[in-house]
Amino acid sequence: MCGIVGCIGNKQAQNYLIGGLHRLEYRGYDSAGIVTIGSDQKATLLRAKGKVSELEKLADKNKSISTIGIGHTRWATHGEPSKTNAHPHKAGDIYLVHNGIIENYKELKSELKKHKFITQTDSEVLAALIDSLYDANTTLADAVNQALKLVVGTYGIAVVSVREPDQIIVARSGSPLIIGIDDDETYIASDASALIGYTNRAIYLNDGEMAICRKNGVELRDLASQPISAQVETIEVDMQAIQKQGYNHFLLKEICEQPTTLRSTLSGRINTKDKSVLLSGLNLSSAELRKIEHVTIIGCGTAYYAGLLGSYYLEQLVDGLTIDVVAASELRYRTFHLPKNTIALVISQSGETADTLACLREIKRRGVKTLGIINAVGSTIAREVDGGVYVHAGPEISVASTKAFTSQVAAITMFGIQVAQAKGTGMQIMSKYIDELAKLPDEIEKIVSKYKDKVAKVAKRYAQYEHALYFGRDTLFPIAMEGALKLKEISYIQAEGYAAGELKHGPIALVDDAFFEVALLIDNWLFDKSLSTLEEVNARGGHIFAITNSKKEIQAEEVIRINTKLDILAPILINVVQQLFAYYMAVARGNDVDQPRNLAKSVTVE
Ligand code: GLU
Repeated sequence: MCGIVGCIGNKQAQNYLIGGLHRLEYRGYDSAGIVTIGSDQKATLLRAKGKVSELEKLADKNKSISTIGIGHTRWATHGEPSKTNAHPHKAGDIYLVHNGIIENYKELKSELKKHKFITQTDSEVLAALIDSLYDANTTLADAVNQALKLVVGTYGIAVVSVREPDQIIVARSGSPLIIGIDDDETYIASDASALIGYTNRAIYLNDGEMAICRKNGVELRDLASQPISAQVETIEVDMQAIQKQGYNHFLLKEICEQPTTLRSTLSGRINTKDKSVLLSGLNLSSAELRKIEHVTIIGCGTAYYAGLLGSYYLEQLVDGLTIDVVAASELRYRTFHLPKNTIALVISQSGETADTLACLREIKRRGVKTLGIINAVGSTIAREVDGGVYVHAGPEISVASTKAFTSQVAAITMFGIQVAQAKGTGMQIMSKYIDELAKLPDEIEKIVSKYKDKVAKVAKRYAQYEHALYFGRDTLFPIAMEGALKLKEISYIQAEGYAAGELKHGPIALVDDAFFEVALLIDNWLFDKSLSTLEEVNARGGHIFAITNSKKEIQAEEVIRINTKLDILAPILINVVQQLFAYYMAVARGNDVDQPRNLAKSVTVE
């Protein structure tokens, strides 16, 4: 969470800092701030509560020609969102921005008697700690280094000092930090999207590393002060990918671009002629694939639901495979057991999700092979897994995840096909999966263009409700939970996602005029059973909006019937309708669609 930027060079720092914070705003948006240091060694600190646009207004009134500065957009963990608690934090001669949580901040604070604390943040404690170690004989780099040895928790930090205005010190442990390199200009960002258009050469810091960034060079060290050689990588995201391109919101753009992003996920990986799949990044031999008996899938939020849907597919594809799907935030503190011949699938859009990362490390420690299903190239999880699949969905800027979900499910399915191929099981079903996967992008394209306006109309009908109940059976159960999650995230309507068969075990008690229900039905062997559930809800005065691929009669207030030849993957199409529904509900309620309240993208704190 939170965005960090920084730059040092010959150009005016403020432009990059404000522009970069705008690009990183999806990572946190309760307050923002920048500090720049002038040639007179004076610092200008600007902070504002709320969005980066508030900070920008301040910056417009306080133009600075300084060429060094750092900035931050916050997602509060300690202390309310306010101007005072906004970063950068000052202590003596230094200014610090921090992403993460300093867990032992209370102990440290009680020992830092000289500093007068003005914020409620854990981050100010780290600033004060660095300052306490930064005497006349110490360099800023050494003071930061000493301080970090005393810290328990997670951090990505950038620190500047008015005494050494020729450098920015950065360090990371658990929170991402990237250094962008250009001639006579060095940039800092917690996410590559801030660097696009400035440079495409970058160094990704690893945990336990720090760097002294100067305008014409970067010096990398570990916390034992040993030099590390920097590996410069190329960033391959283009400018278009991070722009709205005529859409009102990133969310709508990301829903609509799913045909293209899914094509990128599938490209070069499925072969419809010889009905095969090849995921080259798995780093597993056929013999290793054949040996897999159990798959543990972990993820958080939407990635967890993608895993859940994927587990239904894996189970169908690979005879005898056992699977469990666990929310990473739960798994990390459980006494869990991994059967022999387990492979772990680790799913994360950002590749930085703190809970998922912690699980990955624990699973690796136990000697179990891990595969990542990751969107963000070069992210921490992507770099720590044994192998995996980049889903190539492009930057997902809107906080609510849509296109990543679709690509994650496709990637898990391809993984299942590859395991099935290696084991030589389920050839018939495998070929059906390959055909459907190949058709899926075109089918999504049709759904979006054909039903967008109709969904917008339906949304108007339900926009005033405060409660919703989603239900579906089998593969539509994870889809129901994902639909409910999307709705609550952006429309703030209380929404529950349930297995249709579970309704009568409790949730059906909720049915009254204050609720509307989203019923998901696929025309398969379970259709009649789903219909019975729908009737039970109708009988109790439900207000049903049904989404189905069936032409059969359905009693509901509103029905969207998608016309598709897909069968096994039809739930993904139903989900696209739900994504549009959540979007139009949020728009109808006048909400901030891309940056919903209390949330942030890329959950890098626990
Ligand atoms: N823990 C810090 C705070 O609450 C940093 C939060 C963030 O990562 O934005 O200010």
